[in-house]
Amino acid sequence: MLEKLQKLGHLVGNTPLVPLEHPSIHLYTKLEYHNLMNSVKARTAYYMLSSAIKRGEIHEGTTLIESSSGNLAIALATFCQYLKIKFIPVIDPNINGVYEDLLRSISYQVVKVTDRDETGGFLLTRLKKIQDLLHSIPNAYWTNQYQNPDNFYAHYHGIGTELVQHFETLDYAFIGVGTGGTISGISNRLKEAFPNVKVIAVDSEGSVIFNDKPKKRHIPGIGASTVPELVKRAVIDEVVHISEQHTVEGCHQLFENHGIFAGGSSGTSYYAIQQYFQDKAFAEKPNVVFLCPDNGVPYVQTVYNAEWIKWLLNQSVCIS
Ligand code: PMP
Repeated sequence: MLEKLQKLGHLVGNTPLVPLEHPSIHLYTKLEYHNLMNSVKARTAYYMLSSAIKRGEIHEGTTLIESSSGNLAIALATFCQYLKIKFIPVIDPNINGVYEDLLRSISYQVVKVTDRDETGGFLLTRLKKIQDLLHSIPNAYWTNQYQNPDNFYAHYHGIGTELVQHFETLDYAFIGVGTGGTISGISNRLKEAFPNVKVIAVDSEGSVIFNDKPKKRHIPGIGASTVPELVKRAVIDEVVHISEQHTVEGCHQLFENHGIFAGGSSGTSYYAIQQYFQDKAFAEKPNVVFLCPDNGVPYVQTVYNAEWIKWLLNQSVCIS
């Protein structure tokens, strides 16, 4: 089974690192949507699956289960179809309609929870559902992206090493945080090679990961309503919180100024960089990198839709 999975290995990683014009810094972005099924999560899925197969925890007859309404579920569903094992994503009503349709067409079964948990979100309800499934389905295996060390190692050995191989020196990395797998893996690898690199965690306003006041969020990818275990392994120098309006602005700027049509969290990081460097001057331009974790197509009804943007702006008027 491992040999079969490894045949798809060439569709994961070694993503393009492209320079973007900027007046005061050397700016680069890593286009993670060049991975299988168009997102950074192909790396996580591939690494978690291959490690579990090596340990003998996944075999023919396994039913794989994961709580994800997004990119990880799509990557896992794709690998599981290919390996001919069953995959059941546990999703919630916040899922984007295109993703739900896609998951329903490529998963063995989709379980959708509808009850909110005590935080007002769905994460805890989804995790409870996972426990029920683990008890009721024989040979069920939960990849558990929020705590699985392989989510860390996927990015330590993946993006982390690819950046170390590319740069002679790197000064700043801006990384969006959801489960924390990306930032924890990359930050540890970068700090080994470039002790002076500053790792800036990018989170959305209203996410509690770095103690912001909880608020309803509408753009998936980064942010969380509980603090994920893996974030504790990250080596972070600074945290920036970006509003969803600014995420939308960042996405549109990336498209209009650089021809990059990317998902929400890419715009969040791009906006964070513009804001961070706007009044900083350097004798020598620093090397700055950020990720484009997924592309813009799944966001055409939200981030790239004029009506939805109008609706989003109204939401914030009501909140403040
Ligand atoms: N951006 C997008 C679009 C994502 O789907 C994710 C994963 N939730 C992230 C950023 C954050 O990655 P991580 O879960 O590794 O923190």
